[in-house]
Amino acid sequence: MPRYCLMVLITLLSTLPMAAQDTTSTGPTLCQGNYHSEADAVTQLARMASTYANLEQWQHRATAVRNQILTGAKLMPLPARTPLNAIIRKRRGYNGYSVESAAFEARPGFYVYGNLYRPIGKKGPFPAILCPHGHATGRAGGRLRPDQQNRCATLARMGAVVFSYDMIGFGESLQHGWNHKHKQALTLQTWGSIRAIDFVQALEDVDDNRIGVTGCSGGGTQTFLLTAVDDRVTASAPVVMVSAHFFGGCHCESGMPIHKTADLETNNAEIAALAAPRPQLLVSVGGDWTKNTPVVEYPYIRNVYSLHGKQANVENVHYPGRKHGYQYLKRQAMYPFMAKHLKLDPTGIFDDTTELYDETANTIETPEQMYVFDELRPYPANALKPGSQVSLR
Ligand SMILES: [Zn+2]
Repeated sequence: MPRYCLMVLITLLSTLPMAAQDTTSTGPTLCQGNYHSEADAVTQLARMASTYANLEQWQHRATAVRNQILTGAKLMPLPARTPLNAIIRKRRGYNGYSVESAAFEARPGFYVYGNLYRPIGKKGPFPAILCPHGHATGRAGGRLRPDQQNRCATLARMGAVVFSYDMIGFGESLQHGWNHKHKQALTLQTWGSIRAIDFVQALEDVDDNRIGVTGCSGGGTQTFLLTAVDDRVTASAPVVMVSAHFFGGCHCESGMPIHKTADLETNNAEIAALAAPRPQLLVSVGGDWTKNTPVVEYPYIRNVYSLHGKQANVENVHYPGRKHGYQYLKRQAMYPFMAKHLKLDPTGIFDDTTELYDETANTIETPEQMYVFDELRPYPANALKPGSQVSLR
């Protein structure tokens, strides 16, 4: 082919919209970012809803969606549960709660770094709540952020054991040289969340039957993916992320074929519906891709809950004038949900007059206080070199 013809062909191909490059008939397709329009999302939800009319048919579909997520994420079958070799240390006592630095091996040599917040002065066993985080960067990004610390501390003061943990290439993972662009990010973060449930359930003071998870943005994606594939989660609150037209802009959310294959199409609204009939709170805002939640995603998900006869178990709190993030106001929506479904005790934290949950008694720590590993406590000798391919089998 003459060179100019080749150039024309390349130019033409590069200007084709994503949808025109679908390979649905031959294999999986990545649905990334704004993969389709808001109108297309509505049509797709109607198409998906038409495939089931009763609980049995829905459950059949739900199994297929769950299997597609695990297969696309290269977690089918699930990897072996190797010893966690948990490290928990540096306990700091505060007003009504303590914080420890904690890590475990999700796979041999692959560490998940985090902080464990526990109630002081309350009687267990306690529910456990996982807190994944979003893509806020910087030295004190991810789990080190003050808003994340406030969320975890307040839940601990109400009687939850809370585990807050790094995405790959954030916080202490970044400190140790890992990059968020790691090719296995979606796989390893999902597996890390599954192992985080193993980690909290192994703690003596945790009630295995009360496991919550909440996160916003990329942490919202981790929240609904974990809830979809692990039925040990009993209450979930994905914040500003469940959208039928937006699939997540990062490869850790949509960089693997979990949404569309030759056999099945789905989207994040339907993935969130896999939580049914377990209690779920959707927090949405007017200022991002969750702006249609009250009229698009929530009704779809609520219909699935109604097939279970549990319509009251899914709630949507929508803030039309607000933007993306897990700020104070959104946390105020989540606290009563977790208190109700995980039986937390808000005495002394919930103010009847203001109807707000008090966060002023929380202590915000520095990254150095929060780290698991430092000069005195070296990084484990068996830790994989940053960027390594992590063996799953
Ligand atoms: Zn990411």
